[in-house]
Order: sequence, then structure tokens, then C-alpha cells
Amino acid sequence: MKKKIVVIGGGFGGLSAANRLAAKGHDVTLFDNRDKLGGRGYQYEVNGFKFDGGPTVMTAPYIFDEIFEAAGKNREDYFKMVPLDPFYRIFDQDGNYFDYMHQLDDILKQIDKWNPSDKDGYVKFLKNTRGIFELFHQYTDQPFLNFGKMMKIMPGVIKLGGYRGTFNHVSKYIKHDFLRRVFSFHPLLIGGNPFYTPSLYTLIVQFEKEWGVHYAIGGTGAVVDGFGRLLKDLGGKIYLNQEVEEILIKDKKVTGVKLKDGSKYGADVVISNGDVANTYKNLIPEIYRKKYSDSKIERMKYSSSLFVYYFGTKKRYLDSKFSHHNIIITDKYKKLLREIFDGKKMSDDLSLYLHMPTVTDASIAPEGCESFYVLALVPNLDANIDWKVQAKPYRDKIVNYLEENYLPGLSENIIAEHYIDPLHFQNTLKSYKGAAFAFRPSLLQSGYFRPHNRSDEFENLYFVGAGTHPGAGVPAVVSSGKIAAELIDPSPTNGKGRF
Ligand SMILES: Cc1cc2nc3c(=O)[nH]c(=O)nc-3n(C[C@H](O)[C@H](O)[C@H](O)COP(=O)(O)OP(=O)(O)OC[C@H]3O[C@@H](n4cnc5c(N)ncnc54)[C@H](O)[C@@H]3O)c2cc1C
Repeated sequence: MKKKIVVIGGGFGGLSAANRLAAKGHDVTLFDNRDKLGGRGYQYEVNGFKFDGGPTVMTAPYIFDEIFEAAGKNREDYFKMVPLDPFYRIFDQDGNYFDYMHQLDDILKQIDKWNPSDKDGYVKFLKNTRGIFELFHQYTDQPFLNFGKMMKIMPGVIKLGGYRGTFNHVSKYIKHDFLRRVFSFHPLLIGGNPFYTPSLYTLIVQFEKEWGVHYAIGGTGAVVDGFGRLLKDLGGKIYLNQEVEEILIKDKKVTGVKLKDGSKYGADVVISNGDVANTYKNLIPEIYRKKYSDSKIERMKYSSSLFVYYFGTKKRYLDSKFSHHNIIITDKYKKLLREIFDGKKMSDDLSLYLHMPTVTDASIAPEGCESFYVLALVPNLDANIDWKVQAKPYRDKIVNYLEENYLPGLSENIIAEHYIDPLHFQNTLKSYKGAAFAFRPSLLQSGYFRPHNRSDEFENLYFVGAGTHPGAGVPAVVSSGKIAAELIDPSPTNGKGRF
């Protein structure tokens, strides 16, 4: 039966679910509070520069392709992707770097330069991550609604050491300290501390091995744009600058949404791509919630936040050491992570991710210019930091560091800039505590233990996005859209709709 479906939020999860359900012929309406789609994948445009706001590392393009196929379309007609190699250039304290390559032979050559005796260990490590991948891959696009499923995989988790903190797990195979950091950084991509995040998340390592790391021409914004166009082509309706203030409830069912301007939209099904904690806490009165009471939401563990500084320069920096994706991991990394995740305070040290997409795609900056973004982990809003005061000095600290170590003359060459901080995550993206990646990816907040894609409170309320199963990161949230869409309508699609 054709359903009237309201999607709250146009991030990757919301767009994924909306497109799949529109392809099946449902009546889909999406509301987002921002003036453009994308959520964390919003693309800022400043002085002729296009800055991808968030996700830049794209793996597993098949996850995107599936959505277009389900709609009877060809993804390449909407946006194009190119593979990158190295995937990452990872710098130590002194600016020496390791190229994290796709092919095994190439990566072994890199290990040779740092510590040849770690080559065997790396091969063993890969074998282990392969085992983790084989165990979990099948669950990444299936719901995790019952505990039995969790029990089924636990023996495998134990056997493969998937419960162990990622850094410790990697250290079993790799001896060189910097290489240990290189091969254990992946939890950072989904908001986890590599020292605690269970190594089952090295699943991501195998995703990259299997399908590569890609860049969408025109930036991640082109992917968002492609999904938005697809939804319109399928007859879906998109309303921007529209914040959902309340999910309407009657007789233990959700009946629609109320917008901030007071207007109401009825729905058979509501899908929230908004932050799960915020959706429960602020969009549904507590009297209707049994499991997700305010105190349960408060007790859950949240990811860190981020400070992201986007900048464009009037000259190219092709002679710098930087590649497309760069990570600077200093010797103080462990201390820095402890301070941010546990101490809830700013660290004096910096470990940074730097994006330099113009190396691959000059079209996203004015001619002769370079586009960058630099990302620093910072505590979420549980920490007592006044970002209205701290943002500018923090921006200056990062610029000085880059100027002194990597990009000479940087400050006088910047002609476009923008930044986001934890207040942006809280106030614009509506994320509880300003967490950049929703709930932390701990063992007790993964799989069955993460908020379910179908609400435990209301049978016609669904969740997609970083706060639900399978977790944060673009492949995961796009998969959450698939899971929710199939729970809502499991019938196969022929791309033409059925109603
Ligand atoms: C700086 C940064 C870099 C990242 N880098 C990578 C990367 O390289 N690779 C990767 O795979 N992942 C990366 N991630 C993680 C990834 O971007 C996210 O996990 C993913 O994009 C989250 O998607 P989502 O579906 O949860 O929706 P979100 O992006 O959170 O979007 C949700 C949307 O819903 C809107 N909304 C919320 N509440 C309401 C409401 N009440 N009414 C209307 N609208 C509402 C929000 O404003 C937002 O537009 C990065 C994240 C950040 C922040």
C-alpha cells in the first residue's frame, strides 16, 4: 500500500531512505532545517571556493550505486567518482610521512622505509581484519532488532579479538610506534578514540581494501546534489529551511510532524535522520518514552566534537608535502585523545586531518587557487569551553602551526575562510552535546545495543543516520537508509514505482 512518509533531515541517511522509498512509489516528503541538503555533507561556497563541510573520504561506491539502480537510474548520470591512491598521507611529528596505499605491495614498500620487520605483522593484521569483515559485512545493511543476532556473532568477536581497543589490537601485530598509530587511526573517522574503540571497527580497513577510497568530482557536495536531484526525479518533495519541532503522537503511533512555523504534516511513517538523542529528547515528550527516557539519553556516551577550518589561498601549494587526504599524528597523540575524550578539555597539542581536494579537482576553487580544510578533534559540549571566545584563537593556532610546518606564507595568502565548532553541531545540526558523530562507537553502543532503526517506542517511527545502526560514516548512514526503507517496505523495487 502506498504510504505517506515524512523524513526529518536531508543528511546522507535521510536521502538514502527517501530515495529508496520514493523509488518504490511512496509519497515522500523531506524536511531539513538548513538552506541546502547534506547535513554534515553540506557544501559551503565562499568567494568562489567550494568547501565540503564534512565527509571527504568516500569508500564503497557500490553503496551509492545500489540506490540509483533501485530507482532504475545510472549513478554516473548524477555524479562521477575517481579512485585515490594513496588513500592517506600520514605525517609524524617531524613531517616525515607514510603513504597509506591501496595495493599490498605498495604498502609493504612503505613499511620497509619505517620498520621492515613489521611487514609480516601487517600481513597478519590484514588477515585478521579480513576475518572481521567476513563476520560483520553482512550485518552492515541489515537491522539489528533482536539480541539473538548479537549473541550469534559474539563468539566470532571474541575469537578475532574484535572487543579489544584498536590500538592495542594493532600493537599485537605491529611493533613500530608510528606504524601502530598509522594502522589504528580508522576509529577517528567514526568518532571513536582508537585506544578504546573495539577493533571490530577495523571492518572499515577492509572496506577500503575491497573498494578503494574515492573522490566525487565537484566534491562530496556533488554526491549530495545527485541524491537531491534523484529524489526530485522520483517525485519526492523537499522542503528546506524547515525545522521539525515535534513528532505528533496519537494512540501509541506517530501521526506526523509539526514544524517550527506551526504547520502540521500528517504521515503514515516518520523517519528521523535528525540526531537520535535530540529526536527523542526534544521532539517527543518524555511521557511517551519508556526506553529512551531523558536520564538514559544523558547516560549514553557521546563522540567528541570537531573544529573544522575551511580556507582557500590565492596561490597553489602543489610544492607542499600534502597529498589529497593528510593526517598529522604527533607523538602526543595518546595524551591528546585522553584529554579530549576523557578529560573533556582542550589539548595544547594538535593532531590534524587536512583535506586538499584541489590536488585532484581544480574545479572547486578559482583558477590558480588552492582549497583546504583542516579538522581538529575537540571535546563535545560536556566540556566547559566558551567557543564564542575560543574559536578565533584556535583558528589562529592551527594557521600558525600549518604556516610554520607545512604551508609557508599561509596567513597572507588566505582569501576565503569559514569554520564550524561544537556550537554548530548543537545549534545548526541539532546534535545533542554538539557531538560530531552521535553516540560513541563502543561495544555497548554497537549492533543491537545502538538505538534501533525501528524505534522501540513507536512501530511507525524509524531512525537513519549516525546515531542508529550501523553507525557513523557515510557508508554506514547510507546503509541505515537501506535498512529503514526495507523495514518499511520489503517488496522488491523495479525502479518504476508500484502505485
Ligand atoms: C567534519 C566531518 C568530517 C567527516 N569525514 C568523514 C569522511 O571523510 N568519511 C565518512 O564516511 N564520514 C565522515 N564523517 C562522518 C559523516 O559525515 C557522518 O556520519 C554522516 O554524514 C552523517 O549523516 P547523517 O545521515 O547522520 O545525517 P547528518 O549529516 O547529521 O544530517 C542530518 C540533517 O538533519 C537536519 N535536522 C536535524 N534535526 C532536524 C529537525 N528537527 N528538523 C529538520 N531538520 C533537522 C540537520 O540539520 C542535518 O541537515 C565526517 C563528519 C564530520 C562532521
